Amino acid sequence: MTTSDTAGFDAIVIGAGFSGLYALHRLREQGLRTVVLEKAENVGGTWLFNRYPGARCDIESIEYSYSFSDETQQEWVWTETMPRQPEIEAYLNFVADRLDLRRDIRFHTEVTGMTFDEAASRWEVRTAAGDTLTAPFVVAATGILSVPKEPEIAGMDTFGGLSLFTSRWPKHDVDLTGKRVGVIGTGSTGVQLIPVVAQQAEHLTVFQRSPAYTLPWEVRPFDDGELDELKANYAEIRAAQREHAVGAARLSAFSVMFEMMTKPPLKSASREEQLRAIDEGGIIGALSWGDVFFDIEANQMAAKLYGEAVARIVEDPATAAALTPTHPFGCKRPIIDQGYYQTFNRDNVTLVDLRKGPIVEVTPTGIRTEQGDYELDAIIYATGFDAMTGAMTRISVTGRDGMSLADFWSTEGPYAYLGIAVAGFPNLFIVQAPGSPAPASNFVTALEHHVEWIGDCIEYLRANGYSTIEALPDAQREWIEHTAELVAPTVLVHPTCNSWYNGGNVPGKKRMYMGYTAGIPEYRRRCDEVVDAGYAGFKLA
Ligand code: NAP
Repeated sequence: MTTSDTAGFDAIVIGAGFSGLYALHRLREQGLRTVVLEKAENVGGTWLFNRYPGARCDIESIEYSYSFSDETQQEWVWTETMPRQPEIEAYLNFVADRLDLRRDIRFHTEVTGMTFDEAASRWEVRTAAGDTLTAPFVVAATGILSVPKEPEIAGMDTFGGLSLFTSRWPKHDVDLTGKRVGVIGTGSTGVQLIPVVAQQAEHLTVFQRSPAYTLPWEVRPFDDGELDELKANYAEIRAAQREHAVGAARLSAFSVMFEMMTKPPLKSASREEQLRAIDEGGIIGALSWGDVFFDIEANQMAAKLYGEAVARIVEDPATAAALTPTHPFGCKRPIIDQGYYQTFNRDNVTLVDLRKGPIVEVTPTGIRTEQGDYELDAIIYATGFDAMTGAMTRISVTGRDGMSLADFWSTEGPYAYLGIAVAGFPNLFIVQAPGSPAPASNFVTALEHHVEWIGDCIEYLRANGYSTIEALPDAQREWIEHTAELVAPTVLVHPTCNSWYNGGNVPGKKRMYMGYTAGIPEYRRRCDEVVDAGYAGFKLA
């Protein structure tokens, strides 16, 4: 295939991250002439861009990897229980080479727009270089956390020092030795980055708007022979993973949270029992109560207990208090860390609690807050993502009757059917769209199922002479209502929670919890039911 070859594809995949690579392999195996359009220079998606110091996955390597190919899972060698970013990037390159995927990937090719041609029942996909490619099917493997959320702080451009963004970290080494560094953002990214930067910088100032709940975690290299033993049992490991609600059966922050729900309620625990919980379980013990996810009062009690556990690690009482969260535990994606709280005992680390006075502006020499000015040589922005919908709303997607996807999602809400398809946009499959189980699970388990469902669906359409499939608005509404009912009794929808889960982290974004929380097996059962009923909720033509 040459790069000027623009017509006659059976499927166009957008993005060459985890989802796009598998979609290409799967559709090609089915005999579809498939091309992947990728704006970056290589495979990897979000794992290519988020190469900041300390970046690593929070699911075990043997589960945060493709299960569809026994060769790749047997051949690839993970070195640690939870992989660092360079190892995941190398793994995705290995898969691309091993499955000979690169010949159908066009790098440096950014998709800017796509329009459904109703007469021809196909998509016209436009690129930044001015090419138009056509295919009946588009699989948007554009990523759930791929579009950075710009922090929108006044004066950012005026800073005379080094400005760094975790979500587009430079490829070359960044030496922060001897520098006064400021970090804005204490989500999963900031919590991973801060302990590593603290070891390099002359001084680190952490600008914290919302303290994180973060679970201390041991990550270790595999012992001799351990990985081989795991690989020998891969069939069982994958089976257990697929049957687990969060798509990861081994120990992870998700499985710990799941276990928390099985514990006795905090509201009826005596003070002695509460103290025993933190004596024995530390930070995790503070949160391990069955009622915290469903009862906001219990959740607030757990937050206080959490603060007590933090104060046992952080020596300065004012800093410990500032590090204690007030938003509900569980309403944001869980975080794990290696030595986060211990970092605040270092002489070269200062915490600025922005709840006491926010950032006013970035100045040429640092950051001005209502509490004072901080002179800095470098500022690192770890301010998160326009998640779930961000990537697709940055492409001008026009469906039936001129309908715009970005307009629909911003006016009606981030609706999709089964977390895969949006009514009005025939033959467009979005991997991990709103309503997918991905946010509350292992992304790789969720995306493998999506890709397989999409592949099977396209095969069914072609085998049965259908040229289009389209979600029906009623089915879409019912799916969204169902997802909303599932989270209604939980703290996930508490109004004080601003999270990428609900769009509350992006000013002006329509607020709605965007995941499916009944677990992967139940989700799979419902998807199977839809298929068994002849693609119920879809119109096939
Ligand atoms: P995030 O969880 O959305 O955190 C962003 C942080 O930036 C928050 O502390 C936020 O404060 C702060 N912030 C944003 N704008 C700000 C502003 N203008 N002024 C001050 N503070 C500001 O984003 P993230 O840390 O990148 O993580 C996002 C997701 O990526 C995670 O939930 C996870 O799914 C994934 N991730 C995973 C890993 C891993 O596998 N271990 C690592 C990194 C990321 P507020 O909370 O007050 O808005």
